[in-house]
Amino acid sequence: GIRNLSDLKKVAVLGHGNGGTVYKVLNKKNNSFYALKVLRFNQDGIGIRQSATVLEAEILRRVDSPYIVRCHAVFDNGSSCNEAADNGGDDLSFVMEYMEVGSLHDVLREHHRLPEEVICVLAKRVLEGLNYLHGMHIVHRDIKPSNLLVNDKGEVKIADFGVSHVVEGRFDGCELSAGTCAYMSPERVDPERWGGGEEDRDEFAGDVWSMGVVMLECFLGHFPLIGPGQRPDWATLMCAICFGEKLEMPEKASPEFQNFVRRCLEKDWRKRATVKELLHHPFVNRKCCCTSKGLGDYVFHE
Ligand code: ADP
Ligand code: MG
Repeated sequence: GIRNLSDLKKVAVLGHGNGGTVYKVLNKKNNSFYALKVLRFNQDGIGIRQSATVLEAEILRRVDSPYIVRCHAVFDNGSSCNEAADNGGDDLSFVMEYMEVGSLHDVLREHHRLPEEVICVLAKRVLEGLNYLHGMHIVHRDIKPSNLLVNDKGEVKIADFGVSHVVEGRFDGCELSAGTCAYMSPERVDPERWGGGEEDRDEFAGDVWSMGVVMLECFLGHFPLIGPGQRPDWATLMCAICFGEKLEMPEKASPEFQNFVRRCLEKDWRKRATVKELLHHPFVNRKCCCTSKGLGDYVFHE
């Protein structure tokens, strides 16, 4: 285990986001790499060290699945770590397994589009991850390519919890960026029109929608909801999500894939497939889906 943050040496920055900064770190004790996500709270008067981040830490502590990026330790400023206390900041840090390849966003930037036999393996893993989370009553709410990480075996895992709660807290400040709302379902974008307010089912359905958008994006090689020339601002996205025509897959996709995406992108969440249903869908149970190594073959041998 990792007992002290001072055992870790920062070697690179892996990403910046709403939440904070993610570093690649070397654990000097066992000479292996980890990812360290550091959330700071006392800057710019963003007093968000509340439910959202506590929740992110709490979720990370609880989840234990091969489909979710593992968190090895959580360090709260002052309590278990000296380094953070020294710099005067109010930090919360997560030590996570290092995902060598980076995010699906990086993979798509490099490969542009992925073949079906890779996407079905990816979809299956994301479904397994969501099934695990939903079973624990956790709604991810921020499924998108930059939150799906890939390791050196080509395995995809879900990362970045509770960020959507932080993001929501900032809606009032008009801090909406295309990246955060682009994958949102109609019932989250416009609850009055599309929402149900029934238990949490519509919340779980939101994750299914986002996953559908991601799988379509993998196939097309670009974000599917708006045209390449369109500005990805909030109004454009909202119109596309809530009022746009139902997305159809290109004909060249297999019937199974077309149906899979159609079932994810039902605007009415009551009609949308659940994660459990999708786990039985032919698209993720085809022979090639069981034999293909997914991104493993693709990213490293193409
Ligand atoms: P944010 O809340 O800022 O979006 P994320 O947890 O999504 O934070 O991390 C931001 C980015 O940092 C990711 O999109 C990915 O590129 C990189 N990253 C995060 N965690 C890891 C990890 N465990 N291994 C490798 N890269 C990571
Ligand atoms: Mg993220």
